[in-house]
Amino acid sequence: MRSLIDIVDFTGEELDALMQTASDIIANPDKYAESCKRKKLASLFFEPSTRTRLSFEAAMLELGGSVIGFSEANSSSASKGESVADTARVIGCYADIIAMRHPREGAPYVASLNAGVPVINAGDGGHCHPTQTLADLFTIYREKGGCDNLTVGFCGDLKYGRTVHSLISALARYKNVRIVLISPDELRLPGYIKKEVLEKYGMEYEENASLEDKLPELDILYMTRIQRERFDDMEVYERLKDSYVLTAEKMKSAKSDMCVLHPLPRVNEISVDVDSDPRACYFKQVENGKYMRMALILKLLADKDVPDPRRAEQMVEDGLLKCSNPRCIVAVEQELKHQFKCTDKEKGVYRCVYCDAKAK
Ligand code: ASP
Repeated sequence: MRSLIDIVDFTGEELDALMQTASDIIANPDKYAESCKRKKLASLFFEPSTRTRLSFEAAMLELGGSVIGFSEANSSSASKGESVADTARVIGCYADIIAMRHPREGAPYVASLNAGVPVINAGDGGHCHPTQTLADLFTIYREKGGCDNLTVGFCGDLKYGRTVHSLISALARYKNVRIVLISPDELRLPGYIKKEVLEKYGMEYEENASLEDKLPELDILYMTRIQRERFDDMEVYERLKDSYVLTAEKMKSAKSDMCVLHPLPRVNEISVDVDSDPRACYFKQVENGKYMRMALILKLLADKDVPDPRRAEQMVEDGLLKCSNPRCIVAVEQELKHQFKCTDKEKGVYRCVYCDAKAK
């Protein structure tokens, strides 16, 4: 059975096929109106969300299915100390498919190992957010006619921005994509994504602290929020929170067909005077996300007998290696085994199967 934990779980062909299905849903909504009749989606949100949760729920309802679930950890048994594995096993008895958001990195993967039904990662800490990436890719595809041959700028919190991590991994599957990373020093893209995605796939990239300098070169500008909830030190957050603000004035130096994306919610990083610019695509992105989630639900329910490629990966578990990430699900759920995959044989790099952090 397939789940979607990280965008790299899908091949480029699978991503393209999802975009074809989403386009067909837009063109022929009636054809899909009963596709999920008698099917239930469990929407398990252990962390706040507006768009992603309601987008999943709207997607399932538009497919003729129904929705059960909760929208905060306090209203689930997690508040009584139930493990993610047990919660998943229980919900798998009620629902045909699960969408889970969790503050602990790797929690949706643990759920997928135990639920007995497909699990969709709807955001796990600062790690991944693959369905936002589906929305992002489909928006790029619709606005630009494809995802090849583009210069894509990512601006803001590239360290904790899980949507950035997932989108860069997805863009590695397309041809001739150049990446421009714009952030303050403290919020630069994690080294493992540079090494294991950008460098591994030979993507051209550069790092720069100035949005103004790089704006004229970009085909896509992906703005992000500086994520208050991920900072341990509020002084650092206060210092960095207004690092970048895109305004109508700054947009004058951008290409006439540049496309501005943002996973939302925005705080200050895009001034409202940009909203009326035809290049502002962040609200279209929201709508595109619903269609891609519809396509995804259909795919995962149809692929129930297809083996999960993650299970075929070779795991290492020797009792000595431990995950180095305090935000990982293994840091709080003691019964979980610390398991790793070898990502660089020569240098002996082992990464946690749940959150991708290095072993220590
Ligand atoms: N909505 C996105 C996320 O869940 C971005 C954000 O929260 O800033 O990661």
